[in-house]
Amino acid sequence: MSRIWVLGAGQLGQMLKHAGMPLNLDVRPVDIESEETFPLQPHEQVTAEREQWPDTVATRQLAAHPAFVNLETFPILADRFTQKSLIDKLDLATAPWQLVETATSAEALHQKLGERVLLKRRTGGYDGRGQHWLREPGLDAIPDDWHEQAIAEQAIDFDEEMSVVGMRGADGRCFFYPLTLNLHVNGILLGSVAPLARLAHLQAEAEQMLGKLMNDLDYVGVMAMECFRVGEHLLINELAPRVHNSGHWTQAGANISQFEAHLRAVAKLPLVQPTVKNTSVMVNLVGTERNDAWLSVPGAELYWYGKEVRPGRKVGHINFCLDNHADTKTALDQLQPLLPVNYVQVLNWLRSQLD
Ligand code: ATP
Ligand code: MG
Ligand code: MG
Repeated sequence: MSRIWVLGAGQLGQMLKHAGMPLNLDVRPVDIESEETFPLQPHEQVTAEREQWPDTVATRQLAAHPAFVNLETFPILADRFTQKSLIDKLDLATAPWQLVETATSAEALHQKLGERVLLKRRTGGYDGRGQHWLREPGLDAIPDDWHEQAIAEQAIDFDEEMSVVGMRGADGRCFFYPLTLNLHVNGILLGSVAPLARLAHLQAEAEQMLGKLMNDLDYVGVMAMECFRVGEHLLINELAPRVHNSGHWTQAGANISQFEAHLRAVAKLPLVQPTVKNTSVMVNLVGTERNDAWLSVPGAELYWYGKEVRPGRKVGHINFCLDNHADTKTALDQLQPLLPVNYVQVLNWLRSQLD
């Protein structure tokens, strides 16, 4: 049995472990805070479910292992400055931006980037945390501790948000899932739907962009690229060198999930183009208690992460991949009264994509 160590033991690590079982891959998520030493063997691979980690006994041991796949990519993508610089270097479209340096003023940012400017912390941000808006030229200011710690981005009036999840093998061959349409509310992903016929004409552009990035990084495994659609073009929002929340629908909607795809790549098993079934829908469960009644909704496939429920925290997701859009809409109708009232907006959005 091959063993793969995963730096991080959150839900992504757990779902990698789950995906490894049918292939007899022994996937071992490791808690980043662990003080244990693990019996890593030279032939065993190491991967990560996160792009950044604190320096602990566990992470030091894993990061020192010679077979840590993509080790050089993590620091590049974990820092928005180096990530955006890479996107620029490859001449790929992204929101205009600049580094927030010691001498940078809000005024200068407005002058260069416009009336609405979004500061993003260079590292550590997720689910919209680590963002600060400058929306009032002449009145707003860069918070003190954001100098040298952030980039500034032009606000993009995008039409919608989407992402593409791709995979690259050690032989350099790439495969991609179809574009996923995403709904973020206050910076956090709440719903996804894929594939959609109306997005098919953007697929080639998305694949070309992500393929160029993965090739440049000589990346092996699954990578996600979040995008804004502006008219008929895509702007890259950000990249994640790992399995990604917007790819969770592949657990229900593809013959090979993003988790299996990542493991295959890391374990040097064959990669092929995944076969996608019908349109899938994913509802993220954020800050809400578990409700077993969700399981009575036809077609619902629940992943409950077993984490303590806190406001704004991702605690699970539900996938649907039903025979037709009408059945999916009916299932969402049944789910609606079982979710907090703020989900009405999410389910309405999902249903509207299925019209
Ligand atoms: P994630 O949880 O996906 O890692 P994050 O906290 O790293 O999120 P981003 O993906 O950069 O942050 O931004 C979160 C959301 O904020 C985006 O999905 C989008 O809705 C909005 N956003 C980000 N950048 C911009 C921008 N330049 N203009 C307008 N909206 C933006
Ligand atoms: Mg992010
Ligand atoms: Mg994001």
